[in-house]
Amino acid sequence: MKPENFPKEIRPFIIPQHEGELIYRCLGCGQQYGIDKLLYTCPDCAQVLLIYDLNFEGLKKIPGEIWRKIFDYRKMLTIPALKGIYLYHEFIGPVIPLDSVIYLGEGHTPIVEANDFLQQKAGVRFYFKNDGQNPSASFKDRGMASALSYIHFLVQKGSVSDVLAICASTGDTSAAAALYASYLQPHVKSAVLLPHKKVTPQQLSQPLGSGASVFEIPGVFDDCMKVVEALSEKYNVALLNSKNAWRILGQESYSYEIAQSFEYDMENKVVVVPIGNAGNITAVISGFLRFYETGIITSLPKILGVQSQHANPVYRYYLEPDAGKRKFRPVIVKSSVAQAAMIGNPVSMPRVIHLVDAYNRMSDRQNVFFVEVSEQSIMDWELLANRNGHIACTHGGESLAGLVEARKQKIVGNNDVAVVDSTAHALKFSGFQEMYFEKSFPAEFEIVPDPALMNAPVYVHPKDLLKVPAPGKPLQGAEFDYFVERISEEVATRLSLKKVLKA
Ligand SMILES: *Cc1c(COP(=O)(O)O)cnc(C)c1O
Ligand SMILES: [Zn+2]
Repeated sequence: MKPENFPKEIRPFIIPQHEGELIYRCLGCGQQYGIDKLLYTCPDCAQVLLIYDLNFEGLKKIPGEIWRKIFDYRKMLTIPALKGIYLYHEFIGPVIPLDSVIYLGEGHTPIVEANDFLQQKAGVRFYFKNDGQNPSASFKDRGMASALSYIHFLVQKGSVSDVLAICASTGDTSAAAALYASYLQPHVKSAVLLPHKKVTPQQLSQPLGSGASVFEIPGVFDDCMKVVEALSEKYNVALLNSKNAWRILGQESYSYEIAQSFEYDMENKVVVVPIGNAGNITAVISGFLRFYETGIITSLPKILGVQSQHANPVYRYYLEPDAGKRKFRPVIVKSSVAQAAMIGNPVSMPRVIHLVDAYNRMSDRQNVFFVEVSEQSIMDWELLANRNGHIACTHGGESLAGLVEARKQKIVGNNDVAVVDSTAHALKFSGFQEMYFEKSFPAEFEIVPDPALMNAPVYVHPKDLLKVPAPGKPLQGAEFDYFVERISEEVATRLSLKKVLKA
C-alpha cells in the first residue's frame, strides 16, 4: 500500500520521522558518549555500554494507541528498509537513514502454537517463535542488521572506509556477521574467530560461504572472546560481538514483534529465552521496557531465562535471593548440546544485572526468573517438539525444557501463555540429533537416548535383488519392473500396509 492511502491520523508517521539523539551510556560510571565513533566499552572505566535515545521523551508524546496503529499499518508498506527490524525504526535506530538500512529478510519470524499433544505434555500453553527462520538461520541476524546498517551509515557519511568487521563466535554470530558484511563488500570485510571443533559443520560452512576469513582457535568461546577483545583494543577493527551495543538494539525487535503478534496484550504472557553471552536476554528485557514506557504495551510479560547445567553462571548468580549478597562468578563450561550458549563468563552480565533490576522495579514484583535444565531434558524436549511439527534447535529445546521446569516450580502459572524462543534452525544442530539417534554421545554430555524418540533410516535392498539402478546406469524393461515390485513389497511389509481391494 502507498503512504498516501493510509488513514489520515497515521499518514504523518507511516514513514519514520522521529529524529533520535543516540548516545552510548556506560553501565559502570554513567558517562555518556556520542555515537559518531564505534565504541564497545567505556573509555573511562572499561564497562559495557548500552545505547539510549536522549529524545526518547519525544516518543512518549504519541499515544500508545497511535503507535500500535503505526506499526500495524506499516506492515502494509512495501519499502524493504521498513520490512525487517526497522519496522520499529523509532525504537531501534532513529539516526539511521532508510537508505543506509541493510535488509536481508531478517525479523518478522513466525509464532507457531504447539499442538494439543505437546501443550499437554509440557503442562502449559505455548508458542514457539522461530528465529531460525532468519536469513542465516538464527536470531543473530537481528543484531547484525542493526550493527551493519550503522556501519553502512558511517561508510556513506565518509567517516570510515575499508572496515574490517571481526567477531568471536559460538557459530551463529559469525554466520550472521559474515553474511551481512558480505553484502557490503568491498567496503566491509569480515574475519571470524571460532573455537576449534566447537561449532557445527553447518555453522562453519556459513562464514566460509560468505567469503569471510575464518580462524579456528584452540579452547572454548570464552578464550576466543579474549583474543578478539585484544585485537579490537590494539587494531583498527569493528567488533561485532554483542559487546557492541548496536547488536542489542537490533535484537530488541524480537520483543516488539511478540508484542505486535499478541495485539500488544502482554497480560499473562511468559517470554522464554536461552542465555549464553546474555546479549539476547538483555535485548528482550530492554525492548519490553521501551514499549512499556511509551504506553505501547500496558503490562510487562514475565521473562524466563534458561541455562544448561553445563553452562549456568547467570542462573547461579540469581540463586542468591538477597541482591546485596549476590556475587558474579564465571563458571568453567562443560560440553553442551546448547553449544551456542556454552559460555561461562557472559559479556553482557552487567547489562543483565542492571536491566533485571529495572524490569522488576517497573513491574512492581519479581518478573524475571531463571532456571537451569539438564542436557538430557534439552535433547528430549527438542526432539519431542520436532516430532510435533516444529523446527526447534537445541536452544529451542533448552527454552522449552526451562518452561516445563518453571511450570513445575510454579514460576509459570495455570493461565500463563508462553512464547518459547527457538533461537536457531534445527538443521544447524542436527549433529546432536544424529548422536542421539546413533547413541554416540560422548559421556561428558550425560545424555542417554530415549528409544521412543530415536529414529534411523532403513536401507531397503532385498538380498535376492541382484540388479539395482545407479546414477548413469538406469535399469530398463522387465529388470526395472522387478526392481520396483520387490522394493515396494519390502517397504509395504515393513510398514504393514494393507492391499487395496480391486473392484
Ligand atoms: C547466540 C545464541 C544463543 C545465546 O544468545 P546470547 O545472546 O549469547 O545469550 C542462543 N541460541 C543460539 C542459537 C545462539 O546462536
Ligand atoms: Zn564508565
